[in-house]
Amino acid sequence: MSNGHGNEPKNRPETLAARALGWIDPATGAVSPPVQPSTTYARGPDYKLLTPHGYLRAESAAYDQPEALLAKLEGGAAAALFASGMAATTAVFQALKPGDHVVVQESIYFNLPKWLREWAVPWGLEASFVPTGDVPALAAALRPGKTRLAWIETPANPTWLVTDIAAAAAAAHRAGALLAVDNTAASPVLTRPIELGADIVMHSATKYLNGHSDVLAGALVAARDDDYWKRVKYVRTRAGAVMGPFEAWLLLRGMRTLHLRVRQQSQSALAIATHFKGHPKLLRVCYPGLPDDPGHAVAKRQMQGGYGGMLSLRFKGGAAAALAFVARLQLFVRATSLGGVESLVEHRGTIEGPDSPTPQDLLRVSVGIEHVDDLIADLEQGFAAI
Ligand SMILES: *Cc1c(COP(=O)(O)O)cnc(C)c1O
Repeated sequence: MSNGHGNEPKNRPETLAARALGWIDPATGAVSPPVQPSTTYARGPDYKLLTPHGYLRAESAAYDQPEALLAKLEGGAAAALFASGMAATTAVFQALKPGDHVVVQESIYFNLPKWLREWAVPWGLEASFVPTGDVPALAAALRPGKTRLAWIETPANPTWLVTDIAAAAAAAHRAGALLAVDNTAASPVLTRPIELGADIVMHSATKYLNGHSDVLAGALVAARDDDYWKRVKYVRTRAGAVMGPFEAWLLLRGMRTLHLRVRQQSQSALAIATHFKGHPKLLRVCYPGLPDDPGHAVAKRQMQGGYGGMLSLRFKGGAAAALAFVARLQLFVRATSLGGVESLVEHRGTIEGPDSPTPQDLLRVSVGIEHVDDLIADLEQGFAAI
């Protein structure tokens, strides 16, 4: 990752991301890296590998640059890319041992509690579920000497409740457990959990890191390159939940504009939340950037430069009103996922099913980079339907 002069300045995150760490192809001088599709790497006559790369499932040259950039942006010792956010997430739990206990928040990205209940618990993990945002409840569920890991998501899907990362890390560490943080919604632009005491950071890189709704990707960042991290890497290398080289290339390309996108999305989300707060047809607007939001005080402390591009609207008229409202929207695409440049809206209740803890009157909104006045006008005309 050198500019060839050996005098790289200590740059700010925006600069590191825009330049993808300043890498220049030594063979051609290319500023954009080549896509490296090779599954295998040659050995010399002494049968030693020519570079640290051997076989794509274990380590690809295509991962080096995005992993190095993400580790820098999160302030971690190492990063690893995975085939998806869930592949990264499950590696964190699969690196534990049967009989280990974990504490996980209840209302978060819904696939994780589902996978834990349906797969990890039958496999042998013990799991306790605690209310999202509530650090005393998390602390009370930790069993010193038995709990190996606590998992939090902040702001958490799809209510955008905020958890105090520093307090959760202190509680986990007092019990001898690690703290893992799903930092997908905040991104390292707004929150760096490792600086607040977290041990592992997870991203669905499908979302803000890539930012263009065209790559499925996951990533982990570790505070320390220790034995636990080696076990996590083992899950990727041996079990094979790896990312394709072209996806890694696209991800790096997306990350170059991360700061611009997330700042614009945060600014527009705050404008939308402020505009619709107190609307007579809404129960409430869930957004940690609103001064009266339950998570605002903690968010103000641990998020820098914005409160993210995600918000939810809860309708007084219940699921029927929420669905009638989305049916009229013209600009917001009715689709799952989040963090892309185009605005999306989703009725999570339909996706998560009737046992979901998500209120059926809730619509999740992912704010893109369109002009905010156009977005507000689209939402305004949606209210005419209900
Ligand atoms: C999408 C998402 C995930 C899962 O990531 P995939 O890339 O879809 O596997 C995990 N956490 C959060 C917060 C997400 O939004």
